[in-house]
Amino acid sequence: MGLGSNLSNPVKQINQAVVTLGSLPKTSVITCSKLYGSAPQGPQDQPDFVNAVCQLTTELLPLALLSALQGIELAQGRVKKRHWGERLIDLDILLFDDVTLSLPELTIPHIEISNRDFVLIPLFEIAPDLIVPNQGSLRNLIAQLKTTYLHPLSLFTV
Ligand code: ATP
Ligand code: CA
Ligand code: CA
Repeated sequence: MGLGSNLSNPVKQINQAVVTLGSLPKTSVITCSKLYGSAPQGPQDQPDFVNAVCQLTTELLPLALLSALQGIELAQGRVKKRHWGERLIDLDILLFDDVTLSLPELTIPHIEISNRDFVLIPLFEIAPDLIVPNQGSLRNLIAQLKTTYLHPLSLFTV
């Protein structure tokens, strides 16, 4: 799971989403990375993002999980503004065991996984030996990242 926010106290939004994720049916949060600050990916006239990744166990199937995540986004007040724009909370499925899926509404692994430092670096923190289906080792993907603007957030910024 990837989490991101750049509005309305992003640290609070992410913490709240993690708590709600753990209360989904047949779902628990196993571990989460630290929080990271990152420059926005799309339009530059928006605040920096806070990002993290979490590992869940769930008995939900991928599409059911996606719809649960979208429910959490809406409940937290996410409003779609512009592509890759500002948002209260964004919850993406990055990986789902060894599943690969290519549906109009759900691609697993996440289609941008290999291009995103704010995903790969936190993933490395919680699963350094991870292999991404069809894309090789996480270590190798990180070695191929072009730039990194990422910085771990101080524990005292909350
Ligand atoms: P990006 O997908 O590049 O991170 P985004 O998170 O800003 O962009 P959203 O507006 O949150 O994009 O989602 C657009 C659509 O992406 C969703 O409606 C969902 O159906 C679809 N989608 C496809 N694959 C995934 C995935 N692995 N996790 C979450 N949503 C996905
Ligand atoms: Ca996203
Ligand atoms: Ca999303």
